[in-house]
Amino acid sequence: MTPKAREPVERSHADQEAALDPRRCPEHGSASPLNPSQPKDADLSPTPHAASGGASGVTANQDTANPSRSRSDHSPYAEGVAAVFLDRDGVLNDQTAFVNKPEDFNLLPGAAAAVARLNRAGIPVVVVTNQGGIALGYLTEDDLAAIHERMATLLADEGAHTDKIYYCPHFASGTIARYANDCEDRKPGTGMLEKARDDLSLDLRKSVLVGDATTDILAGIRAGCRTILVRTGYAGKDGKAIAEPDHVVADLPAAVDLILTEPCV
Ligand SMILES: [Zn+2]
Repeated sequence: MTPKAREPVERSHADQEAALDPRRCPEHGSASPLNPSQPKDADLSPTPHAASGGASGVTANQDTANPSRSRSDHSPYAEGVAAVFLDRDGVLNDQTAFVNKPEDFNLLPGAAAAVARLNRAGIPVVVVTNQGGIALGYLTEDDLAAIHERMATLLADEGAHTDKIYYCPHFASGTIARYANDCEDRKPGTGMLEKARDDLSLDLRKSVLVGDATTDILAGIRAGCRTILVRTGYAGKDGKAIAEPDHVVADLPAAVDLILTEPCV
């Protein structure tokens, strides 16, 4: 159950997300639930990522500005709850083209229904997405907010919502100075997962991460989560890291089948 995980061995110029600096997103980091304006992770690799994740949040606390608050102060969930972390592009949405504006965002078949099943099961659904395209000037955080608004609308059309969205706008080789730095939030860093843990009082060891890229899986392994690779999106062929998922399934609906039928959450 403890997959081998190693640091990414390849760092393409397009994606240097392997850098896990201790530095964290100083200003961004956690996206608040319900807040469609939260940026998502846009992958920088040649294959564009699409936006995923609805921003509808059930969390009582949208305030991420006060890290000193205790978990119980703002979490609507019981302490130590298990969550399902979802990468956005290639898991929730089609990533065959970059998603830099709302109309670029389209959910994959069955994705909304799958999220709705998690919602009905009372399992928090947390989106964790690299949005290095912001550091490269492809889109702004406002653009990302609009994209997430569309995502939330599309999910809501099928009775689904995400509880919280976290994004990292940073990228070491970015062209926008304020975002051009290594950030531990950027997957395969675990910063976003840890923020979610603190914000929602999650137990990462009971939680599951679903992703399409090796960097997603590596982040999940490092955070102590169970990991599921889907064959949509990159299907694990991004070549950025070496990480062995606990499970490999066709798509998000199949991942949810597994999550709901096995006592892992
Ligand atoms: Zn960051």
